[in-house]
Amino acid sequence: MDHFRIKNGVLHAEDVPMTRIAEDIGTPVYIYSRATLERHARVFRDALSELDNPHIAFAVKSNPNLAVLKVLANEGYGADVVSGGELTRALKAGMKPDDIVFSGVGKTHDELLQGLREGIGQFNIESEEEGYELAAIASRHGKRAACALRVNPDVDARTHEKISTGKRENKFGVPLDRAAEIYARLAAEDSIDMRGIAVHIGSQLSSLEPLETAFAKVGALIADLRAAGCTVTHADLGGGLGVPYKAGEKMPAPAEYGAMVARVTKDWNVRLAFEPGRVIAGNAGVLLTRVVRSKRSGNGPPFVVVDAAMNDLARPAMYGAWHDFEAVEPSGERMTAHIVGPICETGDTFAMDRECDALVAGDLAIFRTAGAYGATMASSYNSRGFVAETLVDGDRYAVVADRIAASAIMDAERVPDWLT
Ligand SMILES: *Cc1c(COP(=O)(O)O)cnc(C)c1O
Repeated sequence: MDHFRIKNGVLHAEDVPMTRIAEDIGTPVYIYSRATLERHARVFRDALSELDNPHIAFAVKSNPNLAVLKVLANEGYGADVVSGGELTRALKAGMKPDDIVFSGVGKTHDELLQGLREGIGQFNIESEEEGYELAAIASRHGKRAACALRVNPDVDARTHEKISTGKRENKFGVPLDRAAEIYARLAAEDSIDMRGIAVHIGSQLSSLEPLETAFAKVGALIADLRAAGCTVTHADLGGGLGVPYKAGEKMPAPAEYGAMVARVTKDWNVRLAFEPGRVIAGNAGVLLTRVVRSKRSGNGPPFVVVDAAMNDLARPAMYGAWHDFEAVEPSGERMTAHIVGPICETGDTFAMDRECDALVAGDLAIFRTAGAYGATMASSYNSRGFVAETLVDGDRYAVVADRIAASAIMDAERVPDWLT
């Protein structure tokens, strides 16, 4: 469910016509809906209502915009961060340090120290080496760190290979069959408090089965750890729930996910944590774009060239991902077209042979389901500058990230004297 609908022939974000945003801000521009973000946050939380006081940490990497984080902080969400920059954002958005989990295989010395100084709630340790480094830094600075050990359960999440994270050959976590010994060794370190297990097997999962398999393995590990005398009070089950990118596509409902989790974890006797990203933000955002021109090509469908490109929305180029594409003021006529951006790469293609609303030069259109892994992956490739972001709330909206012009990016560059 989202709040992007046609009213009086014009696509609106909540009660704001998208034509108005295009006129005011220009295109391309991301539009997020506050009501949709809040709805998704509540649906996910309600789905976990059978559990005892679950901790929900929004995966900041899916949409790190400060205003988006503020909406979720107001909903009682904490944050799952994967860099010092994301940690700074979560704090700036008002998330409590104790509600922040720090994941990631490559946390640097400075990032570990930053987490310690801010007093974050939990470090998800991804290797034995990282655990010892954190312990040493904590001890040097007179701090203690609460930690979970991230395990790699060797489960195929059956998603795109670039967003699968729980197979043996992926870089994430420690192998399940070595987890118990590593946990026990790290638990012996004075300055870190090993309190649980974390798992996250991938993103855009369209089936609950791999998740259930992974969780069952975590349950068995927790039992083994306790049998060996280790203390386990927490388990972090990660994110990963998929969202429909095509109208009518079926995905597991949060309620089904919640019921599965409640069933699998009923004897664990731990506080559970979750790290949803896409399922909260994905369908709460669209990318608004304008058609630059339509270009005939031989006998095939025309190329509809839009002013958004792979630097603004990378998912189609990166993962071959599908985004529904719709006119802002549809005439009712349809066409088949290749939808492409202006960047000088063949990969800058949003869709081939797409059946869509008929569009001509100057028309506005949207790519749907762009609220997660959208603006955050933007680059300035082809010297295009960084895309703007807006947040709608009822009949008002605000620019929540300025467009950064190519000239502003160029201002950070220098030509050394010895070249002049
Ligand atoms: C990316 C990521 C998430 C969020 O994944 P979604 O599929 O967006 O829910 C959660 N936890 C970790 C560790 C991640 O890397």
